[in-house]
Amino acid sequence: MTSPHSTRREALRALLREEHCDALVVSELLNIRYLTGFTGSNAALLVHAEDSPGNEDRTVFCTDGRYRTQSAEQVPDLRREIARACAEHLVGLAVQAPARALGFESHVVTVDGHAALAAAAADAELLRAPGLVERLRMIKDVGEVALLRAACDAADAALAQLLSSGGVRAGRSEMDVARELESLMRDHGADGPSFETIIAAGANSAIPHHRPTTAVLAAGDFVKMDFGALVGGYHSDMTRTVVLGEPATWQREVYELVSAAQAAGRAALTAGTASAAVDAAARQLIVDAGHGDHFLHGLGHGVGLEIHEAPGIGALSTGMLSAGAAVTVEPGVYLQGRGGVRIEDTLVVTDSTPELLTLTTKELLVV
Ligand code: ZN
Ligand code: ZN
Repeated sequence: MTSPHSTRREALRALLREEHCDALVVSELLNIRYLTGFTGSNAALLVHAEDSPGNEDRTVFCTDGRYRTQSAEQVPDLRREIARACAEHLVGLAVQAPARALGFESHVVTVDGHAALAAAAADAELLRAPGLVERLRMIKDVGEVALLRAACDAADAALAQLLSSGGVRAGRSEMDVARELESLMRDHGADGPSFETIIAAGANSAIPHHRPTTAVLAAGDFVKMDFGALVGGYHSDMTRTVVLGEPATWQREVYELVSAAQAAGRAALTAGTASAAVDAAARQLIVDAGHGDHFLHGLGHGVGLEIHEAPGIGALSTGMLSAGAAVTVEPGVYLQGRGGVRIEDTLVVTDSTPELLTLTTKELLVV
């Protein structure tokens, strides 16, 4: 039976042949995790273009002595080497393999790292091969979507419990609410929060990436909560904005506007659509309402092994969405000194309606 990791390495080989690389030295740790399952802090992976599933003699994994046992468990299906300078060691092996055109991840290798690789490569040619694994990571396989679903479920369940137990109430500090929400995500199966939880009350809700403070929630506040759970290395990302007590007219108006823009963004989210067009579908409503200057970030971003990864969905994005991409849709309107609203979901792009992973209601919740 082929493992998902073996299937991913085979997909990478097709890209290597397109790029005329005999082999690629992978040094980005999340890319190595994606291709092998290894979760340690030092490793490199050599993927040879002419290997195939079941015949991966020239595809070699390398880590240092601390991870001898862990790598034997996590990477049982590849030849394993132990060395301190993993990438250089693999370049040395590749040159003997022989690989004449050797790709490296030029978007992550430092200048000093490149000098060390070049020394190990001797007279073989080092080719810049940026972003190849990231291109594959953009499209999630079934196992990845299952982990994203589990991460989103944990976040949904945690927020439901926080709200039903009265955890969001006047008199509590932003920090207290953030800590409780993170603890509830763990109770609901998360390995931890997927990034530092944002709880932003009152005027603070107008700051897009506010860090929780000792500021106390008060009646009449918008409370913006942007948070996510981490499950098996995969991140969820969701924002909901609630109001403490009866909302004022301006709060209802801003909320309804952001909610309509978010729905328009989700409706535009289909395979084959330009990312910039999805951003525009949501943004146009906000611009038409006179709030264009109050929505200063992109509409969304990819999520997966990283909280922010490809594809970006913004006004300047150049790509097209593909089925299987996991992305957020998160418009916001921020009125300085008064308050702001952001509504964010994590979704998986399909050929028709996207699969919504964050299921908490988007009705304006009065708590
Ligand atoms: Zn978020
Ligand atoms: Zn986000």
